[in-house]
Amino acid sequence: MNELVNLRAEAAGLAVELGPRLCGMSEDDALRASISALGEAGLLAWTVPAEHGGAATELCGPETVSVRALAAIRDELAYEHGVLDLGFIMQGLGSFPIALSDNADLAAEVLPKIASGECVAAFAVTEEGAGSSLGEVATSAERDGDGWKLTGTKTYISNAGVADRYTVLARTGEDETTLFSVPAAEVTVERFEVLAPHPIGEVKLDGASVPDSARIGDVGAGLSIALANLGRFRTSVAAAACGFARRALDESIAHLSEREQFGRKLSKFQGLRFEVAEMDARLRAAQLLVEEAATLLDEGAEATSEVARAKLIATETAGWICDRAVQHHGGLGVKRGTVVERLYREERALRIYEGTSEVQKLILAKELFDKG
Ligand SMILES: Cc1cc2nc3c(=O)[nH]c(=O)nc-3n(C[C@H](O)[C@H](O)[C@H](O)COP(=O)(O)OP(=O)(O)OC[C@H]3O[C@@H](n4cnc5c(N)ncnc54)[C@H](O)[C@@H]3O)c2cc1C
Repeated sequence: MNELVNLRAEAAGLAVELGPRLCGMSEDDALRASISALGEAGLLAWTVPAEHGGAATELCGPETVSVRALAAIRDELAYEHGVLDLGFIMQGLGSFPIALSDNADLAAEVLPKIASGECVAAFAVTEEGAGSSLGEVATSAERDGDGWKLTGTKTYISNAGVADRYTVLARTGEDETTLFSVPAAEVTVERFEVLAPHPIGEVKLDGASVPDSARIGDVGAGLSIALANLGRFRTSVAAAACGFARRALDESIAHLSEREQFGRKLSKFQGLRFEVAEMDARLRAAQLLVEEAATLLDEGAEATSEVARAKLIATETAGWICDRAVQHHGGLGVKRGTVVERLYREERALRIYEGTSEVQKLILAKELFDKG
């Protein structure tokens, strides 16, 4: 456990130093600065299994990444800045399918560079017609001599335009999908903006050409590897939500302890005191769910229900906590540039990506009703 305590301290130290500087940068510059600093500090190594050049640890086996470590780091990074958190985790989400496959050459070529920050990763599965239902992807991959040609458009792709390699889910047959590692030179990107700073956009593949050595896993194994990837990383989304919520709670306590109205500190009004107490209690419940899911995953369990519960409750709780923090700040809560207005925008997407709240309920309900 000392390992996790030290890791948290390391991540918090970097975040406190870098976070405020990122606020003044464009989202692309902030992302690049984040990846570079995280790589230099050795934190990106936690996004890659030890056997592929990642961090050596006793928290999990060498073939995988420690979810407890990812969660601890994300909680601390998100506390300071959303792009810093994004820069960290996309390295893992965008590259872990390679570690899950048996493509040793691709792993040796790409993963050590992910761990150092030399190569920036993206995970490109969503399409306009395939969001929650990933099995419906229409992007095609057709055999072309010894290699493949990929055609289609991915959307809502984090790191679009900054990434060096895209892990792309494509259809290789009527009922068959396969993953490919596509270099940035083979795609074109059209960027758009979302609520909070977040490099994101459409990734277009217009006959993108890749050799068979860029195939991740067996032909036909695409969806199962993509889902296994999400299964490993989803709990860390819940941890990032806890980081945003923890910051919002701290901001509320600081503001209510300082601001006076009606001749008293706001912190003396029972209605507000009760709400802050409830924020604290709900946050702790979310943190415990993250801890439970992450520990089980590190121990090798599937933890389907635990992961779904953690993602659902932590992200929804963070939404409620950030909303209350905005309310506690009055007009300041919506004034551009204050911490709570940024948190309010940053936490929102976490209820949508890597499986919406409704998708988590579908998973949990399936476990409750259909297993047994
Ligand atoms: C900021 C951000 C970053 C992202 N980054 C990436 C990325 O890097 N790579 C990537 O591939 N994708 C990424 N995504 C895409 C994200 O994973 C999808 O937006 C998400 O899976 C939902 O898909 P959708 O937007 O098509 O919504 P839809 O699937 O159309 O869902 C719309 C609504 O219907 C609900 N719904 C859908 N099906 C059901 C059902 N069966 N029962 C009940 N309710 C249902 C959903 O919960 C949602 O509320 C990102 C999205 C955002 C917002």
